[in-house]
Amino acid sequence: MNNYDEMWKSLNMDLDTHCKLLDVLGQVYADIYLNQDNRPEGMEYFDFVVGEVHGLRIKELLEHKAKGGFIAGAFCLFVPDELILATGGIPIGLCGGADLTTAKAEEFLPRNICPLIKSSVGFKLARICPYFESSDFLIGETTCDGKKKAWEVLNNFIPTQVMHVPHMKTESGKRVYRMELERLMGKLEEAGKTKIGFEQVKKAIELMNNKRRALAGLYETRKHQPSPISGKDALLISQVAFYDDIPRFTASVNKLTGELNKRIEKGISPFARTAPRIMLSGCPSVVPNWKLHHIIETSGASVVVEEACTGTRYFETLVDESSASLNEQLDALARRYLSINCSCFTPNNERTRQILDYAREYHVDGVVYNTLQFCHTYNIEYTRVEKALKEAGIPVLRIETDYTAEDAGQIQTRIEAFLEQIR
Ligand code: SF4
Ligand code: SF4
Repeated sequence: MNNYDEMWKSLNMDLDTHCKLLDVLGQVYADIYLNQDNRPEGMEYFDFVVGEVHGLRIKELLEHKAKGGFIAGAFCLFVPDELILATGGIPIGLCGGADLTTAKAEEFLPRNICPLIKSSVGFKLARICPYFESSDFLIGETTCDGKKKAWEVLNNFIPTQVMHVPHMKTESGKRVYRMELERLMGKLEEAGKTKIGFEQVKKAIELMNNKRRALAGLYETRKHQPSPISGKDALLISQVAFYDDIPRFTASVNKLTGELNKRIEKGISPFARTAPRIMLSGCPSVVPNWKLHHIIETSGASVVVEEACTGTRYFETLVDESSASLNEQLDALARRYLSINCSCFTPNNERTRQILDYAREYHVDGVVYNTLQFCHTYNIEYTRVEKALKEAGIPVLRIETDYTAEDAGQIQTRIEAFLEQIR
């Protein structure tokens, strides 16, 4: 990596701790990613992006700010990227996936709170994430109790706007979300010093839909038996989607998909045709959390789909592009975003149906249900998903874990036994 010390210093980062973080990440990435056999050439771009994750991309964001743009950090799929883009902002996903700053976070948060929240807050408190430090403000949401209260903590360190996401998709819930879009729009107009207009929203919708189409195309190739790409690589792409430049990311995914289709024709895959095909379902796997994918794939199985926000939930529906006015565009955005099946909703029957659909479409042999410790909504929803999968004759294993490596051996043993059962 180039020397970005001056840039990081200008962001008031803790350089010593940050340096240690980069060393650890570099080693983990080399072990988990660069050691894979038979990777598609198109993954070189994503390796480059990861190599420059705190360098070149941050430089680009700072250049954007220097030209009068702004950076808005967010933590959830319910925050509409389109409105941020339409006001001259760049949306960045800030969820944390590492255990390094847990102690720092626990100065403000209880110990028994989900690791994603602790990691995200800890990154800000420890000043080791240049994305946090480049962000002008954060947009939180009211999806789960832990996050809802964490915004109050973060607001002491960086302005944090909270969007009310309803927990029921009733008519009143839909009205609330639609009204929240307008409220958010007002804040974004202030930040971008611009009035939002039909043309800007149209462009932003097209940009985001193209990104979603690209990811859907990539996932389509994974339906092939065997998949032409490892689950680990596909997960990495889903993670990079949260911070990379959108047109460049979309073009790189489309190029990779072209290569994957050729690999399918030639019968090239990192897996044997007989490798069990696994769906990972549940909580998001946020960068640099590659733990479950790595364990499953080094145990001889192939992860072929992620029913998660770092997976299908990110791209599965498009925003209607036929709106004729700004009002209609906001309606279309509300419809699309409220079609996401997150466990924070009640009831959430559509998610179970979707999991069964994916199991069929991706020819899944078994489901690993991934929940983060203390994530009550995904944990509780397991019973319903397990029942539906068992009735459909699809084996399922629930793994409840955190961001440490302490349980890796135990998880490996359980995954191996699960794969044995599937075989
Ligand atoms: S799991 Fe739910 S709350 Fe978490 S990022 Fe996804 S949509 Fe948002
Ligand atoms: S993983 Fe669960 S508890 Fe953690 S932030 Fe997401 S919804 Fe909330």
